[in-house]
Amino acid sequence: MAAWARAVRGLLLDISGVLYDSGGDGGVPIAGSVEAVRRIKASGLKLRFCTNETQATRENFVKKLQGMGFDISVAEVTAPAPAACRILKERSLRPHLLVHNDLVPEFAEIDKTNPNCVVIGDAAENFTYANLNEAFRVLIGMEKPVLISLGRGRYYKETDGLKLDVGAYMKALEYACDVQAEVVGKPAKMFFESALAEMGVPPQQAIMIGDDIVNDVGGAQRCGMRALQVRTGKYRCFLDRKERLDLMGWINNFAALGSCSSAPQCHPSDCPCLAVGHSAVMQGDSASRGSRRGFCEQPKSWLMRGLDGAICPSPSMALAPAKFSKAAHEHVSTAPAAS
Ligand SMILES: [Mg+2]
Repeated sequence: MAAWARAVRGLLLDISGVLYDSGGDGGVPIAGSVEAVRRIKASGLKLRFCTNETQATRENFVKKLQGMGFDISVAEVTAPAPAACRILKERSLRPHLLVHNDLVPEFAEIDKTNPNCVVIGDAAENFTYANLNEAFRVLIGMEKPVLISLGRGRYYKETDGLKLDVGAYMKALEYACDVQAEVVGKPAKMFFESALAEMGVPPQQAIMIGDDIVNDVGGAQRCGMRALQVRTGKYRCFLDRKERLDLMGWINNFAALGSCSSAPQCHPSDCPCLAVGHSAVMQGDSASRGSRRGFCEQPKSWLMRGLDGAICPSPSMALAPAKFSKAAHEHVSTAPAAS
C-alpha cells in the first residue's frame, strides 16, 4: 500500500453528487453510497461531511439524508451558512439576503435591518431579475460594497439535469458592482481548514472526495490535502479536463471505497485510466505518478486497501489534448453504470 494511504486518518466528503443527487423530489442516493458511509465509519477513519449546500438549513438537510438511510448527524457537517453567520457577527455585518427560502432560518439571529452587505447563496427559483437587481442596488449603493457568497460553484446536478449554481450569479454581481466576493464554503481555504480542525486531522493526513474538480479537488489541494474526484454527480470529463490541475484522477463512484474485492484495478495494458473507467490520483505523490503500484500488499485496513486498489498513475498529463478529448468523449458515451 502506498505511503500516503498508510498515513490517512480522515476523509472529507462532499455530499451532493457524491452521496446523492438532489432534485425537486428531494433527490435520490447514489447507488452504494449509504453502505460506503457505514464502511468508512466502521473502519475507524475520521469522517467529516463538507458541503456547499445552501438550499436548506443544515438541520433539514441532514434530516433528508437520514431519511435516505445515511448515517449522518448535524454535528458532522461543515456548511457555508453557519460559517457565514459567524463572519457576519464578528464583523457586525447586516446582510441583505439573496438565498433560498429554506435557508433563511439559518440567519434568524442575524440583524438584517439597514443592510451593509449582501449574502448570496444558491437561491434557485429566487434568482429572478427583480431579486438580482435588488441585490445589485443594495451593493452599488455602498461606499465599499461587501458581497459574501456561500460558494462559487458553476453548476450542479439534480435528478432532472444540470443546474446553474451560485457562482454564476455571484459573478454577475461582481461584474456589475466591480467588487470581488468573499467566498464562504468550498473552495475557500478557511472552510477546509475549519472542517479539518473539527475533525482533528492535519491536511497531510486527510483526503477530500468530491465531484467538483475546482471546488472540491482544487480547493482541497490548495489546503494541502490530497483529493479524489468521483465520476458521479456533476462530473463531466470533457468539461472538467479544462480544469487541469497538477494531477487529475477519478474513482468511478463513492461506493468503490471500502472493499478490496470490489475495487477496480488498473492494468498497464488498460491505461490510460479513461479506458478503464476508474482511477484515482493523488496530489503531490510523485512516486505513485511514475510507477505502478501493487495491490493488497500489506494492507493497513480493508478500506484503505480498496481505495489504494483504485489508484493508478494519472495518464492525463501525458496525453495529447486531441487524444484526451477523444478518449474523454468515448468514456462519457461508454462508461459503465456505477456499481
Ligand atoms: Mg458536489
